[in-house]
Amino acid sequence: MESLLHAIPLNGVYLPDFPWRCRYPREEFILENIKWKSEKKLETLPRPIAVCGPSGSGKSTLLKRLLAEYRDYVDFSTSHTTRKPRPNEIDGKDYHFVSREEMQKAIANGEFLEYAEFSGNIYGTSKNAVKQIQKNGKLCILDVEMLGVKNLKNTNLNPKFIFVKTPSLEVLEKRLRSRNTESEDSLQKRLARAKEELVYGETPGNFDLIVVNDDLEDAYRQLKEFLFPDIEALKKRMH
Ligand code: ADP
Ligand code: 5GP
Repeated sequence: MESLLHAIPLNGVYLPDFPWRCRYPREEFILENIKWKSEKKLETLPRPIAVCGPSGSGKSTLLKRLLAEYRDYVDFSTSHTTRKPRPNEIDGKDYHFVSREEMQKAIANGEFLEYAEFSGNIYGTSKNAVKQIQKNGKLCILDVEMLGVKNLKNTNLNPKFIFVKTPSLEVLEKRLRSRNTESEDSLQKRLARAKEELVYGETPGNFDLIVVNDDLEDAYRQLKEFLFPDIEALKKRMH
């Protein structure tokens, strides 16, 4: 039987007899990213991937492509949000769309690994969303804004961090406008936040990879190249 154990170490060292919960008493979330493949062989899943970048930088576009190509190995952690769905968005797939009251209750219940207020709405990654993907042995991808990145750095999730940006703020604004999903107010809030996110994103040490999404093909190639070792390792394991 597949047995999921407590957790995994920021430094990648497995401590067989050392309960994670004891080492990090304030962290309730027990990461199930380690499993027994056979009685003797202990394997770790690749570290999750947290993708961040200003709204309109192309995160969803890149991640949708990645998921379409590597559906068997990669899965997207569906966040909760209090924002209203856009016309093409599917509840439970793009987001779990909830009311502010429901979200606040779930947060109070300790159901979230991280959450943050962004442009007048709450967004959060539930512990369950990540857990389900890891149980299926897939590479877990999260799409989070800057505060989410900072909060994730204080959990034991230990993701790799990718920052996606456009070549300039002008290009960002143009893409956000042509996406045609935001009111002028929401657009301005997103652009203001983008300036802060760019400062954080460009600070050395905050991200493991920065992708400049100018030409989409080129940006996607950079993303794939970065994930290649993890995806190959999962392919070998599954076949
Ligand atoms: P995010 O998820 O980061 O908010 P999106 O993926 O929704 O951003 O992209 C914002 C808009 O820019 C979308 O309309 C998308 O089709 C477009 N877009 C994404 N990447 C590129 C690119 N490399 N060149 C031109 N348009 C792009
Ligand atoms: P949008 O409304 O454009 O879908 O998302 C707005 C911002 O929320 C994006 O920057 C996106 O990365 C971020 N976001 C989406 N899901 C989460 C989440 O679970 N947690 C956090 N912290 N940010 C999220």
